Amino acid sequence: MISVDIIVPCYNEEEVLETFYKVTEETVSAMAGYQFTYIFVDDGSRDTTLAKIHSLAKAHANVRYLSFSRNFGKEAAMFAGLQHSFGDLVIVMDADLQHPPAMIPEMMKGIEEGYDCAAAMRSTRQGESRFRSVFSNLFYKISNKMSDVKMPQAAVDFRIMTRQMVNSILKLSEVERFSKGIFAWVGYETKWYPYENVERTMGTTKWSFKGLFKYAIDGITSFSISPLRLVSGMGFLISIVAFVYIIVTLIQTLIFGIDVPGYVTTLCAVLFLGGIIELSIGILGEYIAHIYMEAKDRPIYIVKQSNIEDSKERGNGQ
Ligand code: UDP
Ligand code: MG
Repeated sequence: MISVDIIVPCYNEEEVLETFYKVTEETVSAMAGYQFTYIFVDDGSRDTTLAKIHSLAKAHANVRYLSFSRNFGKEAAMFAGLQHSFGDLVIVMDADLQHPPAMIPEMMKGIEEGYDCAAAMRSTRQGESRFRSVFSNLFYKISNKMSDVKMPQAAVDFRIMTRQMVNSILKLSEVERFSKGIFAWVGYETKWYPYENVERTMGTTKWSFKGLFKYAIDGITSFSISPLRLVSGMGFLISIVAFVYIIVTLIQTLIFGIDVPGYVTTLCAVLFLGGIIELSIGILGEYIAHIYMEAKDRPIYIVKQSNIEDSKERGNGQ
């Protein structure tokens, strides 16, 4: 028997949780040779999600859960699940049934073939707002250009991983986690499984535009220092242009005397440089913010209650 843990981050998923369990269990219970355990991570839900998880745990022996003291975000929830998993294989998937459980048997074949990871990718972005997909395209273009860690654009957080890969992921102890990058960074052989994106039928998306924007900036700055290089490059270029301009102006002044009108050039130069300097400080600031957050070394999540024995100790994210 191969033991498999299914990690499900849940934030305000009261509407879908029972259906999720039912649908997933129908699929996985038919898979011979595997034994599945669910680890629901309640990410500080404000609705009855935790009560729903309690009743699932009471009714089914294969349901474990962790509940956070507040909302720490999906990244923290996934990490907590990985830290508390013990199976030979680990599956991470969303609670909202946008990650079709029916794909698990097919993806499991990839692992049986010897891959370290079987991951789902969207073949369409249907069911998502136009605005979000444009923004997302732009993010992956920039990010993949700048970083050595290439993230497949259509990748979603639905994957089966071997224990070895999970252990490698757990070694990355950063507080601000960006899983898509981390999955790619640890390496290992991944087999990709395309699927049609489906609209969320129950509950609503937990992402706001602000949240997505922060996610994108974090994604780029966590895995690449190219923006810093860009700033240095810009500074260098501007210095050269300025130097040439100074020489030309000096010579002009020496030969033709002082040409007083110069209001527009001065204004343009001041505004342009001001803008570049602000941008550069902003980019520096993003990195300093990362250093600040990592230096504080706060726990990634705090477990308030759980039916997993050692969760209190591990709850410190250590
Ligand atoms: N989620 C979470 N904490 C959060 C936000 C989301 O645990 O702060 C969970 C959520 O319950 C779901 C998964 O992460 O299981 C994906 O969230 P959602 O469906 O809202 O994202 P989308 O599919 O729109 O990317
Ligand atoms: Mg979703």
